[in-house]
Amino acid sequence: MNRQENILTDSFGREHTYLRISLTERCNLRCTYCMPAEGIQLSPKSHLMSFEEIYTIAKLFVDHGVTKIRLTGGEPLVRKDAATILEKLASLPVELAITTNAVSVDRFVDTFKKCGIQNINVSLDSLQPEKFKQVTRRDEFERTYNNILLLIKEGFNVKMNAVLMKGFNDNEVVDFVQFTKNHPVAVRFIEFMPFDGNAWKLDKTVSYQEIMQQVNFHFPEGKVIRLQDAPNDTSKNYKIEGYKGSFAVISSVTNPFCDTCNRLRLTANGQLKNCLFSASETDLLTPLREGKSIEPIIKEAVHAKFKVRGGMDTLDKLQNPDLHGKNRSMIAIGG
Ligand code: SF4
Repeated sequence: MNRQENILTDSFGREHTYLRISLTERCNLRCTYCMPAEGIQLSPKSHLMSFEEIYTIAKLFVDHGVTKIRLTGGEPLVRKDAATILEKLASLPVELAITTNAVSVDRFVDTFKKCGIQNINVSLDSLQPEKFKQVTRRDEFERTYNNILLLIKEGFNVKMNAVLMKGFNDNEVVDFVQFTKNHPVAVRFIEFMPFDGNAWKLDKTVSYQEIMQQVNFHFPEGKVIRLQDAPNDTSKNYKIEGYKGSFAVISSVTNPFCDTCNRLRLTANGQLKNCLFSASETDLLTPLREGKSIEPIIKEAVHAKFKVRGGMDTLDKLQNPDLHGKNRSMIAIGG
């Protein structure tokens, strides 16, 4: 298949220039909205992509037009050869970024700089150590918090993701926005989404509207500034006048943004997901190992992409466990 043929454009004309690669199904935290308490059935090691296979597949996507690669997990930095993978992918003509829970990020600051990584998304769902422990099932608040401050001090572009859950951390919205007063960080409130094993219910989701109601109630009128969203942006961006940082809402549940979707996902065991919510996935690793061309397979998978949320285009469908229940747990997708 010639390199000019655009295999990354779907039937709605959306060009997919952003590939998210999950490096591992493992993590050093156990976040309640991401994985079941009992953990997940891990793929056998032989089913996981080696770093050479990750590089081969990534290079092929870049050859076909991918301009941004984000590394995710589980927790990407728990993978033993994470630094090797970063250095290998850094040789591609692509923007390299990473999403990490920041627990062990202090050990990778030099590697990130060497690989030209500037954009780092971290997870912090509470500014309160006890709540952090409750949601992550691990006592790592201090290390995580200090590592986030380290990344900011080292000059990285840090986005701080907080999954809001009603009755748990929805009363921290203002605290998180206040955090942006003195920290040049982008706080992003993520609407709680349904994935396998996370006991999701719509009434646990804190909606975009509810978040903005809290913000507009607390901050004086005119001080909450709506920022220009970037093309393909998943978030709706704001800042408080005079604050160093900004905040945003990612509203996949109440206000999906699929029209401008440019994202594809590759799981740690080499499956292509054409949408975060799609239950179906396409095996790239087996044909790759058999020496077959995977471009026609990618083309078919991209062409099969639904317009909205893997076909769950209404809240009724999204709430249907027979539909959303077929998907993986978040830890095995990588967000
Ligand atoms: S739900 Fe699927 S189609 Fe919509 S923005 Fe997310 S990945 Fe893209």
